[in-house]
Amino acid sequence: MIHVMKVNLKAYTRELISLPCNLCGGVEVTPFCHSEKYGLPLKAVMCKNCGVMFINPRPTDDKYAELNKADYRRAAIGTDSGLNHIFNKQYQHAEKTMIPLIREQIKLPVKSLLDIGCCNGGTMAAWMKYYPKIVTHGVEPVIRVAEDATRRTGSQIFQGLFEDFVTDKKFDLIICAQTLNHTLDPKGNLLKIKSMLSPKGLLFLSLYDAVSTVLNRPINQMVEIMHPFMFNDESVRYLLAKTGFEIVSIKSPRFDGKKMKAGDIRRIMTARILVLARPELTQPGIAPQPVTSEILKRLRHNQEFYQRWAPRIEAWRHPNIWRRIYRKINI
Ligand SMILES: [Zn+2]
Repeated sequence: MIHVMKVNLKAYTRELISLPCNLCGGVEVTPFCHSEKYGLPLKAVMCKNCGVMFINPRPTDDKYAELNKADYRRAAIGTDSGLNHIFNKQYQHAEKTMIPLIREQIKLPVKSLLDIGCCNGGTMAAWMKYYPKIVTHGVEPVIRVAEDATRRTGSQIFQGLFEDFVTDKKFDLIICAQTLNHTLDPKGNLLKIKSMLSPKGLLFLSLYDAVSTVLNRPINQMVEIMHPFMFNDESVRYLLAKTGFEIVSIKSPRFDGKKMKAGDIRRIMTARILVLARPELTQPGIAPQPVTSEILKRLRHNQEFYQRWAPRIEAWRHPNIWRRIYRKINI
């Protein structure tokens, strides 16, 4: 029985700070939403220069640290105890998607792995199955979840924020899955990740594509306090290039609602950007400059698509029992 705990998120928003764009330092922004998923009156903006999307003004760094350590899992999923279904979901995602994608690129066995934001260890457990000798490390801010990850995997877990994680170890693979958007300094954290990679080490980065996500939900359900940053195809490429990463492979759907039909509803459910990247071996590449007016246009098209097909999309996202059975048999 899960005891769902109510979290007072409003307490985190009493003091807000305005900041320039984390990636390019730009101060010119376009606001695109004025409230968020939990009803808090936070504003989301897009940097006019590089297309990074962020909450601005946002709660202070101290309040975010407190939120991530104390209340994040409880607010997002109702509990901070280790849940089997979340562990299994992570395990399956790693087994079906992440590991095959990475094994295409890495010929040698991965000897060491760091999972930033490892939750209760499902991803690490999957890697341990394929590479029994692998040494796995994790970073997880929530105490009970970190303890659960240790119990399930025997990995070395640092309980705290990645910003406070210090090590002289180097890793063959660093996984940052659905985590970078929770941190307050994506640019600084990518530079830190780069410094922790072994000479042939790779970064696996997974992020929700915020622009595509609004195909299947109202825009203020995409924005949420726990995600101070939101990424899109263009800004991810720009961010990686600017922090000295070279993209080895990328899966990024870059949906545009203007070109989509009702029949596409099924394939837009998980708009994830999956990237495998390595520190640039040659001269730093020139970052492709995002055209932010195009990103905003796509954001609008996608939201219009949602508004047009909302009842069908919601029925697909929240299936009743008959639809679930149908899908199990047919899909
Ligand atoms: Zn910017």
